[in-house]
Amino acid sequence: MSNFAMGRPGKRSRTELRLVCCAKNRDEMKQLEEKEDCFVIDFDPNDELDISNPSLSNDCHVIAEKGQVACRDYLHPRYACAKFPFKKTPHDIHCKRCYCYVCDLVAPCKDWVGLGPNGHCHAFYNKYWKNVKKLRRAYVKLLAISKRLDDFLMSSNI
Ligand SMILES: [Zn+2]
Ligand SMILES: [Zn+2]
Repeated sequence: MSNFAMGRPGKRSRTELRLVCCAKNRDEMKQLEEKEDCFVIDFDPNDELDISNPSLSNDCHVIAEKGQVACRDYLHPRYACAKFPFKKTPHDIHCKRCYCYVCDLVAPCKDWVGLGPNGHCHAFYNKYWKNVKKLRRAYVKLLAISKRLDDFLMSSNI
């Protein structure tokens, strides 16, 4: 028989599947479903992705795309861009859905390039940039406070 057993979790758990079988044809599937107390799938999980295959162990290959790809179809920080990989492409280029990690604004922000190594296009998730992000937030808050203070002083004619 060409069925494939994925494992037998403990007997106590009712919600867990006791056995996952794989049948190669529909008749076999029906037979299994009737006779065996197990969940039958109509493909062999090993056919799709063999993680024991050494050629796959060091690198990640896209086998198939199903639905949306998080880092290409949704907003993402520049360093996580799937269209322009951070390690292999110049940091200042960006796709339509890249945003600045520091400013939380759609790229390019006003400090995207032009600050040398401190340009926001180079930002990625590490301690240094986390601090830059925190400082920038504090600065933006201070600016807002000082503007409100200005407005208050102006309106009260002091
Ligand atoms: Zn992008
Ligand atoms: Zn920025």
